[in-house]
Amino acid sequence: MHHTIRLSQMRIGVDLDGVVADFTEGWTSQYKIDFNKEIKEENITEWGLSKPLTHFEEEIDFWNWAKDFNGSSIFRNLKTYDNAVEVLYEVSKSGHEVVIISSKPWWSIHDTLVWLGENKIPSKEIHFLEDKWKIDCDVYIDDAPHQLKSFVENVPDKLILRFVRPYNRPIAGTKDLNNWLELNSLLESYNL
Ligand SMILES: [Mg+2]
Repeated sequence: MHHTIRLSQMRIGVDLDGVVADFTEGWTSQYKIDFNKEIKEENITEWGLSKPLTHFEEEIDFWNWAKDFNGSSIFRNLKTYDNAVEVLYEVSKSGHEVVIISSKPWWSIHDTLVWLGENKIPSKEIHFLEDKWKIDCDVYIDDAPHQLKSFVENVPDKLILRFVRPYNRPIAGTKDLNNWLELNSLLESYNL
């Protein structure tokens, strides 16, 4: 007897910073403590963390600051965005695979693994790499302009979701995800 299998299970590649983890809130609040300057999310309209957004001359100067606060990096205590964890749970409960794909620096990996556990992120598969498109998924969710472009160039047939942030712009070949509550209907329309 041949059973019909409903081909609805999808692998969903999910970025962390700017998608699940509120990196912006994390570093701007620490920046205010250390340098007494308030930077608002809506003022971060370009990708990049050095001048003129911050006083750091180069990106590497930002990361040298961000890698050690009393033995933990900036990634250790980030908050999750509204509904992120709840929606990832629903998505996994309905049979999809949540695949974490992050390009974080090597020195943040142990902090990130602890963070994923503490925040109960429902994923059995976690990757750290720059060429994210090489991890085979049906759907990719990212906020970084260069990653979104790379998905469109390398895997244009996949559903590529731009998590809309003030520092990214619409990119041809991607669909907009404004908040986590929109994910389900985007997945359903793709899965028909
Ligand atoms: Mg990101």
